Amino acid sequence: MWREVRTRLGRIGAGGDSRMRRSAVAPIVLVIVFAVVCVIVAVQWSAYRADDVALHQERQLFARAIAQRRGFILRDIESIVASDNAVDRLSNSFDWTWVHDRVGLRLKNYFDQSHVFVVDSSDRFVYAMAGRSSVDPKWFGTATADLAPVIDAVRGRPSPLKPEDVETSRTQTGAPLPRPAHASRVQMFIGRPAIVAAVAVSGTSRMRLPNQPPIVLSVTYLRDKFLGAMSRRLELPHLRITGLTTPVGQDNTFDLYDEAGRPLARFAWTPKRPGAEIIRNVMPFLGIALAAFVLLTSLVVRYMRRTEATIAAGEDQMRHLAMHDALSGLPNRTFFGERLAELIEEVRRSGHTAAVLSIDLDRFKEVNDTLGHLIGDALIRTVGQRLARLLRGSDLVARLGGDEFAVIAPDVGELGDLQTLADRIIAALRAPYAVMGHTLAIGASIGITSITRETGEVADIMRRADVALYRAKNEGRNRACIYDAAMDADLRERKEMERDLKDAIEYNDLMIAYQPLVGPSGETMVGVEALCRWHHPTLGEIPPAKFIPVAEHSELIIPLGEWVLRQACLEAKAWPALTLAVNVSPLQFRRPDFVKVVARILAETGFPPERLELELTESTLVGNVEEAGTAMRELKALGVQFALDDFGTGYSSLLYLRTFPFDKLKIDRSFVRNIENAADSAAIVHAVVSLGRGLGMKVTAEGVETAEQHLFLRAAGVHSLQGFRFGRPGTALDITARLLKQADAGPRTLAPIASLAG
Ligand code: C2E
Ligand code: MG
Ligand code: MG
Repeated sequence: MWREVRTRLGRIGAGGDSRMRRSAVAPIVLVIVFAVVCVIVAVQWSAYRADDVALHQERQLFARAIAQRRGFILRDIESIVASDNAVDRLSNSFDWTWVHDRVGLRLKNYFDQSHVFVVDSSDRFVYAMAGRSSVDPKWFGTATADLAPVIDAVRGRPSPLKPEDVETSRTQTGAPLPRPAHASRVQMFIGRPAIVAAVAVSGTSRMRLPNQPPIVLSVTYLRDKFLGAMSRRLELPHLRITGLTTPVGQDNTFDLYDEAGRPLARFAWTPKRPGAEIIRNVMPFLGIALAAFVLLTSLVVRYMRRTEATIAAGEDQMRHLAMHDALSGLPNRTFFGERLAELIEEVRRSGHTAAVLSIDLDRFKEVNDTLGHLIGDALIRTVGQRLARLLRGSDLVARLGGDEFAVIAPDVGELGDLQTLADRIIAALRAPYAVMGHTLAIGASIGITSITRETGEVADIMRRADVALYRAKNEGRNRACIYDAAMDADLRERKEMERDLKDAIEYNDLMIAYQPLVGPSGETMVGVEALCRWHHPTLGEIPPAKFIPVAEHSELIIPLGEWVLRQACLEAKAWPALTLAVNVSPLQFRRPDFVKVVARILAETGFPPERLELELTESTLVGNVEEAGTAMRELKALGVQFALDDFGTGYSSLLYLRTFPFDKLKIDRSFVRNIENAADSAAIVHAVVSLGRGLGMKVTAEGVETAEQHLFLRAAGVHSLQGFRFGRPGTALDITARLLKQADAGPRTLAPIASLAG
């Protein structure tokens, strides 16, 4: 059962823990994942940006290289045509051989131009070169017409060329410029993209030039050699011309347009991708950072897990402590209450029957008081173990406090089963205990109540179990009683009795009956015992056996006891020859002011202390050795006598007899009653009488009813006798009358006994 309870608590704890752990770990993991994603995105983004910038730069580089090439071509042509010799050979008298050697071949061989043309001042083509040979311009057919825009531009005529691509030889004011007029453009020539450059022939100022000087034109295709050189110089691998719509995949492209924005050609090459490089370089670091993150997270999670486990264990322990009794380890009242509340709900839902057994140990207090708390504690632990062993797994046993235990039986068949269970518990708890070298015997009383849909809440059920327990105790202990509604009536009755008794004490409605104590002969009254009487206005005579426990239970015994003592002292003052025995309840005797109260009453009533005999029972002394001894000695100093009442029913402890200054022993009437038919009772009476005598005490026999008993006791040597044979308890008047009669009769011999003997 323990295991089950613990697992149940554990399970609650574990569920809560993992939830807690998840809720604590999730944000950390999220933050780390978010950070990692951010870093990856940032790296990717910068790689992408770096690629983008690099592609753009490559394109710009390519554009600049084409522009540069155009400039170089113009300078190459200029280097040949800007000379007086050129003016002479080209303009004044056209020297074909010179033109071919110095212009055509030179531009071809040195400067790698594809075609060279010369137009005269009337814009007629006078020289053309294809390959390394001079050809008739007509060889180019209509293609030469494609060169017209450049020629127009050089001539200063309107042309589609952009102004920055054209430079005329004179400023707007007509002043000559240092460089000859020239223009260049990119365009298609014979279906291929090409740089077309044109420079007007010019010489020194001495040379006379026609209005329109001849123009040298060159066409350089943007292919093969050009691409090869560009690829090497600009480090653009696989530089090539592709179709305007040809897919190029990952390659970078540059589109070449004419002045009007028409696409001429597309160049493609394998780009440098610095982004990939960045990623390659960053990746190891990123990997390390990631690993560190993962490590950190796992460390944090592990740490948290450990901390949580410690906390959870602590919580479990605290909950266990809060829910369990430290001494027995059993669930405590709180745990019991919670489980009972749950069970009530279950019963309401399912309609089955459950039960609560309220267990109270009998005589535990005495063990605790006589043998000390250490043994008391060990006994409680053993009781707990016996109960736990006895019950089924589904039952719950709890220690509610002191010597109170309770059992919850969650499912019971019939009431008879409960009775059997209770009997088993009582039998188990009554079996002797071996505790620290002592053999102990205690008992148990059990109150049982069933839980059904109709029963109320926890408090109501516990009240019913207690009522039943109360009944079990009243019926003589070591038994189990099942609650029924009539018990409530009983309890009510008790409460009413308590109230009425209170009134009776307050309004002087109690009386005292005096029972004579006679000498061994049975003739002479030597004393009286004051016995309280209560005549209830409606219920009539209520015996002390009924109202004394009620008074003790409600502490009314204190005022009651005082009243009896005072009243008895007042009344018994009239009988100077008699001792007055007054019963003292343990509760009364244990009050710290008891000695003072007795002394005060003696003083107030003027009753001679040496005639007062206080009757104590052994239970008054149990666990109270020091205080009881002191109180007795103090009272004895005043002259008060002490009698040990009902000797033989309690512990019959020789230790008590020796420790406490008793003057008298009263043999309980249960022994006297059995003298005639139980040999052991007779033997006990003999023994007790010799014991009392041995210890220097007087011995009184109680409950003497027959002549045989009288004879036996007298022979045994008792000092005085009490019982119906010598007088029932009567009023003070009865005693006075009897005393008067006794005085009249005078001392006699032991006639009745002699006659009996005879
Ligand atoms: P106890 O002190 O042992 O008193 C003797 C009881 O035995 C009395 O019962 C008495 O009537 C009864 N008795 C005497 N002779 C005979 C006999 O021959 N046969 C039988 N069967 N009974 C006999 P009672 O008056 O009913 O008192 C019962 C108990 O109540 C007393 O037992 C005493 O313990 C307690 N008690 C009575 N009055 C007081 C009181 O004022 N204070 C306290 N604390 N207890 C009281
Ligand atoms: Mg008595
Ligand atoms: Mg007695």
